[in-house]
Amino acid sequence: MSGAEQQQTWADRYRDKWKWDKVTWGSHAVDCYPGGCPHRVYVRDGKIVREEQSGTLNVIQTGVPDMNPMGCQKGACWGYLHDSPDRVTRPLKRAGERGEGKWQEVSWDQALTEIADGMLDAVEEQGVESVITLMTPELGAAAARSFSGALGSPVTDGNAEFQDWNPGFYITWGKFNPVPSADDWFHADLIIIWHNNPVYSAIPWYHFVTESRYSGGEVVTIAPDYNPSTIHSDYHLPVRIGTDAALALAMCKVIIDEGLYNRRFVQEQTDLPLLVRTDSGRFLRGNEVGAGDREDQFFWYDSKSHQVVPAPRGTLALGDANPALEGRFKAKLMDGSEVEVEPAFQRLRERLKGYEPEAAAKVCEVNADLIRKVARKAATRRTMIMAGWNTGKSYHGDLMERSMVLLLALTGNWGKHGTGTQSWAISALDGVSLATAKGRPGQDAARELYAQFIGARRFLSADDVTLTTEMIANRAAEMASARLATMGAWFPPVFLWYHQYGYRERWNRGDWSDPGMKRTFDEYFQEAMDKGWWDTAMAKIWKDVEPRVLFEAGGNVLRRHRGGQNMLLEHLWPKLKLIVSVDFRINTTGIYSDYILPAAQHYEKMGVSMPACHHLNAVFMDRAVEPPDGAKPDWDIGVMLTEKLEERAKARGMTNLKNHRGMSISLDGATARLTLNDHLRDEETRWDEVFRDDAAYGILPEGTSLATMREKGTVRWTGWGFVGHGLAQASTIEPDKTHNPFRWHTEEKLPYPTLTRRAQFYIDHEWFLEAGEELPAHKENPHHGGDRQFRLTSGHPRWSIHSMNMTNNIILNTHRGEPFILLSPEDAQAKGIGNGDEVRVVSDAGYLNISVKLSPSVRPGQVILYNGFEPYQHREWFSQADVEPGMVKWLHMAGGYGHLKYRPWHWQPVPVDRGVGVDVEAAGASGK
Ligand code: SF4
Repeated sequence: MSGAEQQQTWADRYRDKWKWDKVTWGSHAVDCYPGGCPHRVYVRDGKIVREEQSGTLNVIQTGVPDMNPMGCQKGACWGYLHDSPDRVTRPLKRAGERGEGKWQEVSWDQALTEIADGMLDAVEEQGVESVITLMTPELGAAAARSFSGALGSPVTDGNAEFQDWNPGFYITWGKFNPVPSADDWFHADLIIIWHNNPVYSAIPWYHFVTESRYSGGEVVTIAPDYNPSTIHSDYHLPVRIGTDAALALAMCKVIIDEGLYNRRFVQEQTDLPLLVRTDSGRFLRGNEVGAGDREDQFFWYDSKSHQVVPAPRGTLALGDANPALEGRFKAKLMDGSEVEVEPAFQRLRERLKGYEPEAAAKVCEVNADLIRKVARKAATRRTMIMAGWNTGKSYHGDLMERSMVLLLALTGNWGKHGTGTQSWAISALDGVSLATAKGRPGQDAARELYAQFIGARRFLSADDVTLTTEMIANRAAEMASARLATMGAWFPPVFLWYHQYGYRERWNRGDWSDPGMKRTFDEYFQEAMDKGWWDTAMAKIWKDVEPRVLFEAGGNVLRRHRGGQNMLLEHLWPKLKLIVSVDFRINTTGIYSDYILPAAQHYEKMGVSMPACHHLNAVFMDRAVEPPDGAKPDWDIGVMLTEKLEERAKARGMTNLKNHRGMSISLDGATARLTLNDHLRDEETRWDEVFRDDAAYGILPEGTSLATMREKGTVRWTGWGFVGHGLAQASTIEPDKTHNPFRWHTEEKLPYPTLTRRAQFYIDHEWFLEAGEELPAHKENPHHGGDRQFRLTSGHPRWSIHSMNMTNNIILNTHRGEPFILLSPEDAQAKGIGNGDEVRVVSDAGYLNISVKLSPSVRPGQVILYNGFEPYQHREWFSQADVEPGMVKWLHMAGGYGHLKYRPWHWQPVPVDRGVGVDVEAAGASGK
């Protein structure tokens, strides 16, 4: 062959790579913080040959950069996961011991029959509650769990299950996480990246930070290490691990002392003008002042009329009032006696006395002048705090977050473009979530269902006409959770973990807990039970009911759960008679399961990507290729399992099941109810119904259907819907504007869904008063994990979404291809550890083996381990979760207080993992 011919052949072969016979829309329905990037997927001969960002999102606001081309490196090689070595394509049944890795292939019918019988055995022995289904962060996988609604078996609340939660934001606002859309970052004059690393965690959107800088904004990064986002910042505040509250409160003190605070915003939007009794530290309340008045009526001192007057409950509008922020006053009680009262702001001033920048600098190790400088900038600019899930994962993360929000409150920095906090929120799930609930196909049924919701509002607000729609929705969720927790709905798993996962002993360890706790964890737990704060259906039964079945779809609990295998394999696994993993691959949990059911991958089924308030789009995912071999879409698996449960229950005469509340559950007709008499079985019909329903609900434009989604790929929301965090965003979606939350509060003066109906910084709950946490404060991170040389920090990795891409060969080749920690050269040298050495990271809870990457960006005394590595990637198969004790903060058991009350996805104890005490031992040193 001549050289020219060879060249031709090579060129032809190269050109041939870029040929395809089909192009479809694709995305990745995982919680990739939170993703939603529209892709084009190219298929040839039934195989995926390429995927790329579509770059098709519209310009929203003139002058603001668009979101294109949303995407990350994991998404750019997602197709490789379809054929990865850990892919599973046929139902597998364990053939050896759990974890031994021996499997036999079985038919779907055999697998489903044995799983259904295993579940019914558990129901007979322990009740429906013993069949535990785990909520997981993979959106599409939820459909595989749909049998739980029919069986009435519980699903763990995702908030606690994957341990992503901002408790301090919730305590203050009574909301999960109000977030701006990513393009709204562009409007900020000052972005404070705090406990976050968007260069890793927000790859598709990080450009808005740099674009904000190009348009004159400044960026500050607050992090213990010089993290990859710091490189692109104007200032770095290298805060000592766990001392962020001290830093924030020092800034607050500067702002108040220098008179830089936004008085009107504080008076109008916060509880700081509300009067507190100096004798008890409790708010002055209506039922103390007037017969028959409400306990949740609060007061302020109007400097204009010189009177103690009720603060309006139905509006934030001040009108002519000028509530005092300082001073001491007398208030008359019902019995004629007088008590001394003062505004919460006055108490705040007292609290801040210990936070002079010089004093705080000694605590948080940030230069006092720098503290002043950033405080003054925040007070004079549109400021946004780019927080993530990190803060809430600290033991005292709630105090840190309350302090961060206080900084924003004092400076009037929420409820306008370019301000607020940025964490995570989703919405617009109504079409898919309510498809079955509407009872029959068609959009008339959808509209009727919505009309029922609207009608229920009147009933729910009968005792209080001042309730906002947001408050009514919260009240409905609280009531539903109490009744439905045993009917296939979510429940807070803390009680299950306490009684059945072995955490009771750990949570009672005084040496791992806050030394300021006045009593043992047990005593707080018992008091919360006795007072009925958690007397929803699932709080108490775990004392008696042992879990028998664990069902997980699209998750990896043995990697994820703080405490890891050390806790779960020892305490939970022996109680389980059946463990089912539904996944497209064999992960660590799969290895220790009894059955693995093979799920279709993201380009092998239809669906939508994470419906995130960060981009406000419905992002369509089409079926590009058929699932290989015996793999099936999650929805098919959920329907098939429901059908099999129905069949086996009938065969076994189990027609009337009872749960521990005595409620009757019948599986008869369950499949027909789930599928609306088979109407939803077909994937195309189901998704057409979902999109049409979303249009009927006002979430998508009128006329939206599967056909229009297939044409456009991405459609921006027109409304929030009821399901998700939409109403908590409290801002109307505008077609030509970026989204910023809170504007119903700041512009329309609607009250907040908190006890005091204002952003609440003063929590006069008896436990908070006892702990000295009625106001934000700094408290040292306890020695959870042990009083050891290092503190372990973590974060979203650059290379994976949870553990899902950590074994992708393409991604492995972009880093060292093995798990690693980052360590400072000084610390490594002192221990004789070199770059690339394997070490053992040890805490009181466990250990893991891992290699070392030396980096001068790491703070001495810090160990950084970005999460996501599978245990089996480590020698001996222990990973990060195994050194994390999984402590929860005792105060988060508090209840019976306004918004400190459980409803799905909200207030509940969630384990923490940042700042765990560890040692680093050179290889060959003794173990635990
Ligand atoms: Fe976007 Fe997530 Fe896909 Fe990456 S993995 S491209 S962030 S949807």
